[in-house]
Amino acid sequence: MCLFCKIVEKEIPSNLVMENDEFYAFHDINPKAPVHVLVIPKIHVDSFNELTGEMMKNMTSFIQEVALKTDIKEAGYRVITNVGDNGGQEVKHLHWHVLGGAKLKWGHFSDANAKDFF
Ligand code: AMP
Repeated sequence: MCLFCKIVEKEIPSNLVMENDEFYAFHDINPKAPVHVLVIPKIHVDSFNELTGEMMKNMTSFIQEVALKTDIKEAGYRVITNVGDNGGQEVKHLHWHVLGGAKLKWGHFSDANAKDFF
């Protein structure tokens, strides 16, 4: 069983934000913003590559609820999912990083020279 499946099963403790039948949201153990929540499906899905449109539809409203509950919805926030090795995905269970609570910097591919990064 993968790390995040164990969190869903409560075999590993987590700091819960909210859950429903399909999804689970908890605080990242190593936050990269004042609010850094991970949103995962309760069933095991490896990555965004395996996510269906049907599940994405329900995840969208769940993520919006997480943003509301953590009080970042109005001021703005960022939603990211890393996919595979080049995307920097360390945990091979689909998760959305929901980041907010401060003005977030946007690094490479915006104000920097992309050539410096590969
Ligand atoms: P990624 O690099 O996109 O796969 O992101 C994995 C995220 O999971 C990282 O931001 C980690 O800090 C986070 N993480 C790893 N283990 C735990 C844990 N036990 N509880 C909460 N967050 C975790």
